[in-house]
Amino acid sequence: MSADPDCLFCKIVAGEVPAEVVHATEGTVAFRDINPQAPLHVLVVPRTHAPNAAASAEVDPAQFAEIATAARAVATAEGYDDYRLVFNTGAGVGQTVFHTHCHVLAGRPLTWPPG
Ligand code: C5P
Repeated sequence: MSADPDCLFCKIVAGEVPAEVVHATEGTVAFRDINPQAPLHVLVVPRTHAPNAAASAEVDPAQFAEIATAARAVATAEGYDDYRLVFNTGAGVGQTVFHTHCHVLAGRPLTWPPG
């Protein structure tokens, strides 16, 4: 499915719901998280709807790979060489929006293991 009419991030991709877009490529859109958890907290989403990272990788591997390069571009543009990428997959680990999204986090010490 290329877009789900009930999906919030599909609506952001389509420009139907406002977001602070910081980067866009043929296959991805990146926008600031409305509830930032670090000085840099951007979500990179594929334009094609899929519910999670594994599904996106199956549906369109090239577009999924674009997420990683877009995330690097976002971090670099904001002056960060070091950053963390997170794909929450499943409600049990905190996924709340079921359109693949890569959290790009940087700008403060990030602990490991994550909480
Ligand atoms: O991984 P998870 O599904 O929990 O992440 C969803 C993210 O989408 C949250 O960090 C939330 O703050 C963000 N969000 C947003 N804009 C919205 C709704 C949610 O940035 N309109």
